[in-house]
Amino acid sequence: MSASFLIDLRELGLDDARALLIHSGQTLPDPSDNATAYLQSVINKLGELSLKDPLTGLANRRYFQNVLMREIEMVARSGEQALLLMLDIDHFKNVNDSHGHPMGDVVLQAVAKALTACVRPMDTVARFGGEEFVIILPSCQGHYGQQVAERLREAVSALSIAMADGEQLKVTISIGGAYAPRWVRSTPELWLDRADIELYRAKSEGRNRVCIEPQQMLAVSAEEKNLLFGPLALDNPAWIESIANDSSTQASGAAASNLN
Ligand code: GH3
Ligand code: MG
Ligand code: MG
Repeated sequence: MSASFLIDLRELGLDDARALLIHSGQTLPDPSDNATAYLQSVINKLGELSLKDPLTGLANRRYFQNVLMREIEMVARSGEQALLLMLDIDHFKNVNDSHGHPMGDVVLQAVAKALTACVRPMDTVARFGGEEFVIILPSCQGHYGQQVAERLREAVSALSIAMADGEQLKVTISIGGAYAPRWVRSTPELWLDRADIELYRAKSEGRNRVCIEPQQMLAVSAEEKNLLFGPLALDNPAWIESIANDSSTQASGAAASNLN
């Protein structure tokens, strides 16, 4: 920005923002030292706060949606394997009913911490809402996906969470997973739907288990994909993903190979 202008901090209504940040454990520089640095710090910290779940400190749904969109672009361009996991605490309502809502919150925090400890720094763990979490694992080869999901499931089932009444509570999670279709621009909704179907399967097959959708293999190169789907993918990703998931695509892929 080339234009520079002076702002009087006292004319800005920053009191609520300041109170919110202090309440959430942030420290701010002294405004009388450097007003610009103070304002910049308030803006930056509010930005960070808007992407976090306040209870668990994990990324929130807004942040997760951004990462999901970015990963869809990456997979469409590079064909790398990316896995989306949806995780849901089993029978969590019983925890609230037996131990009270605040203890339910303690369980959510303990589960969030255990999940974060199991993944790589490049993975994104987010609270999707309620007692549901989501994890995006970029560059995730097939065997690694199953392994990490099992590791997550085991880590949660190994927790002993101290309740106010002295009981050590055990909880389990069910996990559903789906890979992004490679070389194809999917949509967040379609990808989430497929992971959610697998989560539903894990629940209905008895809970405390992992179900991951088998990967769709497309027998075409990146160049062929661009030729076939490039312009269309931008217009109608839902149609593209449904084509990609259809086994007949392999036949069209082979047809495209013959064009070269
Ligand atoms: P299932 O195994 O089928 O997932 O059963 P469930 O009991 O976990 O699922 P259900 O959807 O019946 O209940 C979820 C409960 O999660 C109900 C709701 O009160 C509780 N919950 C949602 N958000 C929070 C929260 O932030 N804190 C606490 N303590 N409880 C929450
Ligand atoms: Mg749920
Ligand atoms: Mg649940």
